[in-house]
Amino acid sequence: MAVIVGLFIILIIVVFVKSNKSQMMCLRCEDTIYAVKQSQGSIWIEIVLWLCMIVPGLIYSIWRTTSKKSVCPACGSSEIVPIDSPAAKRIKSRIPG
Ligand SMILES: [Zn+2]
Repeated sequence: MAVIVGLFIILIIVVFVKSNKSQMMCLRCEDTIYAVKQSQGSIWIEIVLWLCMIVPGLIYSIWRTTSKKSVCPACGSSEIVPIDSPAAKRIKSRIPG
């Protein structure tokens, strides 16, 4: 039981840490964006696992949470970099204004 509670606390911490939004740049749009998180896997598998047994459901939830990809909300590309990265600065310097 203590293990399950421990894993649940880790899950909450991971969600909290990963939810910090920061400005990014999409290398495909070459635009400044706020990335959105996209989960891997399926919510339905997660629900079924939770209904069957608690441990596989928890493991699947942790995997889905930790494997979330940041994507561009405009084009869905995962080719995004922090706004202060060299690649973003190079693109910004090319675009007037
Ligand atoms: Zn984009």
